[in-house]
Amino acid sequence: MITKQKGTYDIYGDLAKKRAYINDVLAALCEKYNYGYIETPVFEASELYHRGVGDATDMVQKETYDFVDRGERNITLRPEGTAGVVRWFIENKLYGNMSDPVKVYYNMKMYRYERPQSGRNREFTQWGFECFGSDDVLADAEAISLAYNAYRLLGLDNITIKLNTLGDFESRTNYREALVNYFKPHISELCPDCQERINKNPLRILDCKVDDKSELHKNAPKTLDYLNEESRTRFERLQELLDLMDINYEIDTKLVRGLDYYDHTVFEVVLNDSYALGGGGRYNGLVETLDGPSIPAVGFAMGYDRTILAMEENDISIPINDSIDLYLLYVSDSEKETASYLLQDLRLNGFIAETDLMCKSLKSQFKSVDRYNAKYLIVLNDEDLKNSQVTIKDNKTKEEEKISINDIVDYLDMHL
Ligand code: AMP
Repeated sequence: MITKQKGTYDIYGDLAKKRAYINDVLAALCEKYNYGYIETPVFEASELYHRGVGDATDMVQKETYDFVDRGERNITLRPEGTAGVVRWFIENKLYGNMSDPVKVYYNMKMYRYERPQSGRNREFTQWGFECFGSDDVLADAEAISLAYNAYRLLGLDNITIKLNTLGDFESRTNYREALVNYFKPHISELCPDCQERINKNPLRILDCKVDDKSELHKNAPKTLDYLNEESRTRFERLQELLDLMDINYEIDTKLVRGLDYYDHTVFEVVLNDSYALGGGGRYNGLVETLDGPSIPAVGFAMGYDRTILAMEENDISIPINDSIDLYLLYVSDSEKETASYLLQDLRLNGFIAETDLMCKSLKSQFKSVDRYNAKYLIVLNDEDLKNSQVTIKDNKTKEEEKISINDIVDYLDMHL
């Protein structure tokens, strides 16, 4: 038997319905924020992620699905959404007229060769959004508010935004230097990955999952102490806006996010002070890194798996329709023709209608009525049909009425 690959799963039944519900909620919310939908290809040139996400990141070094295609091209399956969206933005020269920002959201499958565990898979879906063109702190506030409201609308009220700033280039460079000076004398105490990180990107030492509870980590220099005046004012301004928007946030000076491309604002959405449901921030240098002009941008991404887990853990029920409007039963083969055109008419009029496709006995058809939880049922029989009539029955109250075959749609319209 061929089984599914490790870290992948099939989406069907209730899970499919839950995801469709989340999709609808998020799409409607994004429209309120005037974001348009985008989908980029599942595979891109590997170089995009090497340069965009960063050669030194865990994601590119350990987690990407890379292969050489039949045309000898180095290809990578999409591990995250931002780099592809930036490639689209540059390739289509959308920076040409930036009198308004370019705002897009996505809902795409991602691929990372990670160790699968609860809420962590090798194929997973992320919802995310990017806003290009504005360096104003109002755009950062808008991004945080969109992420925040998404969870609130899904019923997750107990969320906090963990917030930090890396500052501008100058502040980040000073901070980087302070971190190197701080960790260098203790290099032997660091995990093997962090011993490498100290040269490539010391900020990521703070992200280390192996050592993050150690005293050395706790006492590490804090980003906020290395901000220049401009970056500090900017961060204060962002907090003022978040206060005005009534957004629940906490400053976390250790938050740096795993990817290379962030500057200024970085944030994560955390549930009940435990795990991160999603994260994002400002990445003013990335468009230029990928050969575009210097265009500021801010974005966010969250995973469906952890969101669904969090909704389940918090007993948030998702409205799942587990009933149908009408089940058409027939006594013998001769009524099948009538069933076929009646179903056509009912479905085109927006009703969820079903009949027996398995040539079952009438008794078994009645069992299907209950299994499908049908609100109404009609038993087609030739006797009634001769007079263009049917008997329609309310499956709950068991009341029934004889009506003209031409009045079924109107009848259901009135009663449902
Ligand atoms: P990242 O792109 O790593 O910043 O992750 C953003 C969000 O995507 C995380 O907070 C998770 O909700 C989700 N995510 C990241 N990696 C995975 C994965 N392997 N499986 C499921 N969800 C993931």
